[in-house]
Amino acid sequence: MTTDTVLDLKPEDVNVDQATSPESTPTTSQNGDTNSTEKTVAKRTAARKKAADVHVYDTIVVGAGISGIAAAYKLTQAGYDDFIVLERAARVGGAWRENTYPGCGCDVPSSLYSFSFAPSSKWSHLFARQPEILDYLESVVEQFNLGEKIQFNNGLEKARWDEEKKQWVLDTAQGQYLAKTVIFSTGPLTEPQTPKIKGIETFKGEMFHSAKWNHDYDLTGKRIAVIGTGASAIQFIPQIQPLAKELYVFQRTAPWVLPKPDMQLGEKAKSWVEKYPKIQEKWRGAVATTLNVINVGLRNPKLLEPANFLSRQLLKKQVKDPELREKLTPNFLIGCKRILFANNYYPALQADNTTVIAHGLVEIDGNTVIGANGERHEVDVIIWGTGFDVSHPPIGSKIANAKGEILSEVWKNSSPEAYLGASMQDVPNAFLVLGPNILVYDSFIGIAEAQIDYILSGLLKMKELQFSRFEIKKDVLQKHNEKVQKQLKSTVFNTGGCVSYYLDENGKNFAAWPWSLKKLKEELVDLDLKHYDIVL
Ligand SMILES: Cc1cc2nc3c(=O)[nH]c(=O)nc-3n(C[C@H](O)[C@H](O)[C@H](O)COP(=O)(O)OP(=O)(O)OC[C@H]3O[C@@H](n4cnc5c(N)ncnc54)[C@H](O)[C@@H]3O)c2cc1C
Repeated sequence: MTTDTVLDLKPEDVNVDQATSPESTPTTSQNGDTNSTEKTVAKRTAARKKAADVHVYDTIVVGAGISGIAAAYKLTQAGYDDFIVLERAARVGGAWRENTYPGCGCDVPSSLYSFSFAPSSKWSHLFARQPEILDYLESVVEQFNLGEKIQFNNGLEKARWDEEKKQWVLDTAQGQYLAKTVIFSTGPLTEPQTPKIKGIETFKGEMFHSAKWNHDYDLTGKRIAVIGTGASAIQFIPQIQPLAKELYVFQRTAPWVLPKPDMQLGEKAKSWVEKYPKIQEKWRGAVATTLNVINVGLRNPKLLEPANFLSRQLLKKQVKDPELREKLTPNFLIGCKRILFANNYYPALQADNTTVIAHGLVEIDGNTVIGANGERHEVDVIIWGTGFDVSHPPIGSKIANAKGEILSEVWKNSSPEAYLGASMQDVPNAFLVLGPNILVYDSFIGIAEAQIDYILSGLLKMKELQFSRFEIKKDVLQKHNEKVQKQLKSTVFNTGGCVSYYLDENGKNFAAWPWSLKKLKEELVDLDLKHYDIVL
């Protein structure tokens, strides 16, 4: 940034005549300083499609999950056409492509867990299952011709900011790409988390994480240990319990479970929804309002009393054995961890072949799994229902900021910070989708869409006003974070007495947005250039 003019400007202050055009200098000389690295990469990637794409894209979107698809749709609709999407896998879908465990489905009604621009009348249930969510995402890509923008099997390996040229240099599985801006939509729940358990290497049986389900392994008649009782585990436990000879469920913390108001949607219901789209629209609105009530409750835990009552009633009705009921009673305030919905979870835990160990797994000795209470069980298979590493987004290891620092190193001692979950310090012209402190109790799709609207408004301003670099102002980000952290102090996430994925290892809440969804959406309506340092 040595010779650049950094301005604190308003859009009307921008003199477009002064703008430089980084696009005018796509060059091969950038390969010069990375020659030796390129040779190595070239050897390694002999079969790869091409070495470099020297076009400087207006934007490159990384990841073709829900967020990447929404970004592709919204960019296209805005006539912002000079972009591509890089996806490391061979299909779109992200989390819904990776998670194929039995019983996998959404826990937000599909009317809301779907794109605002692509309502569907085809859902088989109020809460859709994973295969149909994946089909839906593929159908949206097809419907809006987004496939031509997506490059599959083309994972990002390294992204670095070239300060001189004011552009991003992206090294991928298929070569090198240049872009004025980047949208990192690589997902919040992607890195399966498996705890380091003493003696794990001595286990001789089968072992897999719920996000990497081994469908070739037949669970019938097997002694199964499930580790964890989070959102995925409570969906697959009822499916595998009837197959198991013995099922041992290691529960470190009992979750709050509410009845799932699910039902099958027959052909008649589907045709009504198709004929009268207003029904779906109203239902979407009603679900959003209900979730917003929960959101208000998260900031005023007393308001969650009815949910607390409902959950206890479910437990009382479905679990007759007082000892088991005691084990399954949560010991923290409702809402502190994600509230779960299931009608078949408690019955599966009550089955004769199921044992709930109300302790974490601490050791594995050969085929014996050992709980923190010393309980030992011999098993054939271990299934990790231990969720995802949320506080260290894996994309961090692939991004070098404007100072040349790798983000995962920057985040080593503290979790990531970003303005409105999108704009990071020292990371100009780039955005995260579903980044830090953005989660509200709602559909992630709605949050991602709102963030993309925000990002897009910034990209359009950049194009219109012809500036070459914009980066969130340090003091804006700092004040924003201080406000967020202060506000979070009184929420149930921080005060509810649980250890959740909202909190990093230092106890800092890096995940939740402390206000309402309404406020979040209001703040995301438009990217205000006042908040950014701009270089012409
Ligand atoms: C089992 C499960 C159930 C869920 N249920 C719900 C629910 O009911 N309601 C809800 O709101 N949310 C739910 N979620 C959260 C879910 O993660 C989000 O709703 C949503 O899928 C996020 O979409 P995304 O596109 O941001 O991320 P992802 O779906 O994770 O997609 C990210 C994409 O980026 C790609 N990618 C990553 N790194 C690279 C790279 N280096 N180069 C190129 N491509 C890369 C990945 O391959 C992937 O395709 C659930 C998550 C899981 C795992």
